[in-house]
Amino acid sequence: MSFLIINSKVLPGYIPPEKDELLSSWIFRLSQSHKIKPFSFTKFYFKETTFWNRDVDKFIYISIIDQLTKITPLTKNDILNLHLISYKDIIFNTPLASSYTPGITNLGIYHRKRKNNGLLACPKCLIKKHYFKKSWRLLTSLICTECKCYLIDQCPNCNSPIIFQRLDIGDKSNHKNIPIYLCWHCNFDLRKEFEVIADDSLIYNYQNDINECIVNGYSMQTQYSFLYIQVLLNILGKSKTSSSTWTRVRNAFMTEFNLIDEDFFCKSADTTIQYRRKIIPLIYFLLNNIPERFAPFCKKYSLRYSDFAKDHVHLPFWFYRIFREYY
Ligand SMILES: [Zn+2]
Ligand SMILES: [Zn+2]
Repeated sequence: MSFLIINSKVLPGYIPPEKDELLSSWIFRLSQSHKIKPFSFTKFYFKETTFWNRDVDKFIYISIIDQLTKITPLTKNDILNLHLISYKDIIFNTPLASSYTPGITNLGIYHRKRKNNGLLACPKCLIKKHYFKKSWRLLTSLICTECKCYLIDQCPNCNSPIIFQRLDIGDKSNHKNIPIYLCWHCNFDLRKEFEVIADDSLIYNYQNDINECIVNGYSMQTQYSFLYIQVLLNILGKSKTSSSTWTRVRNAFMTEFNLIDEDFFCKSADTTIQYRRKIIPLIYFLLNNIPERFAPFCKKYSLRYSDFAKDHVHLPFWFYRIFREYY
């Protein structure tokens, strides 16, 4: 390899992505390192004026990825690795849809506004380095095992969703280089408040195991990680319903774990991080020991395969088999 680059067109203010960085976070930081507003940066380099109006981590034009390979030293694969498509066949195995993809949070973008708290953050990771991680877009991400604290999904001060690219909106001419860790709405420092997790807690064990499952691509229950995650999230979805007929899974969770929560009766398919923190570790706990926990739980509350599969035609065979073997 030659270090003499002839006709180099690499960005003058190029900075490499950080470990497991989210694509939009890196592009935002590139605009900051060039002292240009993110909107102007993408307009100038990508010839795109609506770049930030979409969920670019879910949907990006291939022409922009090609352009990034021309103006940075990265390959197409390096760039795709920052994109949520890199979770295909690990978290989900459907096409990555801009509207809904299993396991990936929904930003609920409506024009430039966002309805959902789809971007998560670890307050303590943001102290160490100023960027957003790819795993902070996963429904399965509840805590940071490195920092041993809860992830947040909104500003603790004003409850706005986390939208770092809005930090440099407004005053058109002046670029302010506002730090990525501030709330775009009230400028609260998102690193200030965090809730600590004990490393012998259920939620900590859950996160450790699911992180391992994502790294390995398989789980203890089945050979592909996405087949385990599909069941985990299916049960999460079935645990809340506003229906008056399909209530068995919801009632089983509420009774068994003595839970009262208005989220159980919520109509929307989206879940809050508070709800996920409560329910996902319990599902993990049950699935971790099928003969002694999950099967008796289903028997006790008369839960059948059809209670879980009612709007999912195909649930993975490893899950179906539980009802064949233990019923
Ligand atoms: Zn962290
Ligand atoms: Zn705020």
